[in-house]
Amino acid sequence: MVEGKIASIEGWAAMDNKSPLKLWSYSPRPLGPSDVEVKIHFCGICGSDIHAIDSGWGASIYPLVTGHEIVGKVITKGENVSNLDIGDLVGVGGHLYACHQNDCKPCSRGLDPHCPKSAFAYNSKYEDGSLSYGGFAEAIRVDSRHAFRLPENMDPELAAPLMCAGLTVFTPMVRKGVKKGNRVGVVGIGGLGHLAIQFANALGCEVIALSTSDNKEEECLKLGASQFINIKNQEEVAKINKSLDYLFITTNSKSNNYTQMAQWMTYEGTMCLLALPENNIEINPGVLVFGSIYLGGSLIGGIEDVKKTLEFAAKHNIRPMIEKMPMKNINEGIQRVRDGNVRYRIVLEN
Ligand SMILES: [Zn+2]
Ligand SMILES: [Zn+2]
Repeated sequence: MVEGKIASIEGWAAMDNKSPLKLWSYSPRPLGPSDVEVKIHFCGICGSDIHAIDSGWGASIYPLVTGHEIVGKVITKGENVSNLDIGDLVGVGGHLYACHQNDCKPCSRGLDPHCPKSAFAYNSKYEDGSLSYGGFAEAIRVDSRHAFRLPENMDPELAAPLMCAGLTVFTPMVRKGVKKGNRVGVVGIGGLGHLAIQFANALGCEVIALSTSDNKEEECLKLGASQFINIKNQEEVAKINKSLDYLFITTNSKSNNYTQMAQWMTYEGTMCLLALPENNIEINPGVLVFGSIYLGGSLIGGIEDVKKTLEFAAKHNIRPMIEKMPMKNINEGIQRVRDGNVRYRIVLEN
């Protein structure tokens, strides 16, 4: 049996739902035959990390090490790992483990993050009851099927946000059939939104960026939006009524008006929730029914979706806009995300 190199992994942990993160160590579970050990170079901060730290989606298990936009180097591999080599630069996202059995409905459909046996990068449980931990740390052990060799021309620090934000926006575009010539709205221009504009633009869509921050207009147009609309400007926003084929909602702001958003959709248009509000949402069902509009959601993406995301991003030179910070400044980084004061992703560096 191959032993892991790092017997005790040091990471930044939330000890409860209100204190700053602090350095803490855990003993990782033994390196399985299909696992790799990855020394972490970069990890992005995603909105989901904040929800997990705050127990916003239900009680988290503390101490909690979250972080799921990971890029690092493979330093150890189990005896059955054939897809990766020591020294490979890999990306690891939020999903660390699934059963991969043919009789598992989600796994057999390429929807492995929905596998009931899943483990995620924020203190969820493996089948054997041991806890999983995330990437705000020096290293991580992960099933090699959930670690992805980076395309050769990809800048590793820019790959980090692709592992969650990029995957989250591109997967529903592919799975829900977004194609050249579609009119695609993106609500909320942050970590997800600024990538959604780039992916939709690269797919040949006409992209309308919708935000409450006028000062993001210039960047949105540079990223590939053909139009920027401030949602607060009722007159402007009414001009897109009944015109969008797709709408990707990347903000979970309590002020989101889902009924109004549905009015932007053309017949049989698809609205897709990508951010996960902690509260229930309200929508006038009549707008959906009379417009034949679909409202749905999408969670990250499966293994094949990750590969497609990385490949497409490399081919079309999709570049997350990041602010790099040392990992030790993580609490400052988290505060900046809470304040909505990031252009557009913070990437922590070890
Ligand atoms: Zn995320
Ligand atoms: Zn499964």
